[in-house]
Amino acid sequence: MKFQAVFFFTLLFCFNGSTQHVLEIDCDTTRYEYGDYADSIGYYEDLFAGTHEAKVSDNRLRLAYFVALRHYPELKQSKVKLKLKPISSTMQAQPRWDFIFQKRSARRYAVFVNSNASITGICYQDLSFNSLVGWIGHEMAHVLDYSKKNNRQLFAFISSYVFDKNELRRTERKADKVTIKHGLGMQLLEGVNFFHRSKKVKKAYREKKKKYYLTPEEIIADIEDQCHEKQH
Ligand SMILES: [Zn+2]
Repeated sequence: MKFQAVFFFTLLFCFNGSTQHVLEIDCDTTRYEYGDYADSIGYYEDLFAGTHEAKVSDNRLRLAYFVALRHYPELKQSKVKLKLKPISSTMQAQPRWDFIFQKRSARRYAVFVNSNASITGICYQDLSFNSLVGWIGHEMAHVLDYSKKNNRQLFAFISSYVFDKNELRRTERKADKVTIKHGLGMQLLEGVNFFHRSKKVKKAYREKKKKYYLTPEEIIADIEDQCHEKQH
């Protein structure tokens, strides 16, 4: 059952130990708790049968995938698999290698979740259920972006993403904004805050996050913009 609530977030920013800025976010949102949805896995698997397949035994991760997917109705017909794999970030979305030989409608995508915590320092299991939903939502923003490109555009994009750091930054920041637009801003923020506070994260991964993704402050500002838009 869906749990709706109004959350009031007060965040304190301290500068030089003397000045304090108080920022309040008052926005109708949901904090996803695993227990509220645990009975729904079968329902979601039937609902997305033939298109979305969560090939993991971890029920919590599987469920987080489907809860995030509910925020992306545009992806209902897309063929996506969720898989565990050793990768250099916590999650990663990509089209299957054979996309170049297929029609866009037949294209398949994968969302990988890192199975080897020693690479990044943190494990997806460290994230709260709510944060997992937000981070999977970020990967779905990538899938949505891929699904709008034809084969030639997608091929060109992958090449520039790999070699051009500016393209990487543009892409990751845009994916964060699309996640917020799809109503998963607070979920994304919870995960990002957890990430920045975690002592376990490897230095290179921490630097990458700072350089290429929205900061917690930018996420908050964007959520405020979105809430403002919705109210008018
Ligand atoms: Zn990303």
